[in-house]
Amino acid sequence: MKRPILIHPDPRLKKVAPAIPDLSDDLRQLADDMLETMYAAPGIGLAAPQIGVDARVIVLDCVKGEGEAPRPIAMFNPEIVAESDALNVYEEGCLSIPDQYADVERPAEVTVRWIDRDGKERQEDFDGLWATCVQHEIDHLNGILFIDYLKPLKRQLITRKMVKLKKDRAREKA
Ligand SMILES: [Zn+2]
Repeated sequence: MKRPILIHPDPRLKKVAPAIPDLSDDLRQLADDMLETMYAAPGIGLAAPQIGVDARVIVLDCVKGEGEAPRPIAMFNPEIVAESDALNVYEEGCLSIPDQYADVERPAEVTVRWIDRDGKERQEDFDGLWATCVQHEIDHLNGILFIDYLKPLKRQLITRKMVKLKKDRAREKA
């Protein structure tokens, strides 16, 4: 089932999400819903707080090439256990901040540990777009948005645009 995505500014996007205690069918369903919501958007990553769920769950699929098989990944309690000194700049966007993009510098490679949907502990190195995406999504679990890395003026400009977008959308619904 597709879920509505929260738009910044929203206090639920600024919270530190608690770890999930044990994997359950409800949480697996949540991950499935998140993937469906992400693909429909379309996007390459989504974190549970973005659909108003206070839990450390993210999904991602950064396969972009045409004809390449999709690679949906659901991560429960993901954790960055190592990161490279080398940095990389990507132009980032966010499903909670529609149509706004900005360059963000992050470690070029990260090692991530997580619990998969079978309850098994996994660890993998990510680079390129995957590295950026997984860091962006884990940030969401800590109440951090990509615009938090921008200069205050640019961040305020984007936030004002989002406030207006939310007003316009609310008016359309009314
Ligand atoms: Zn995001």
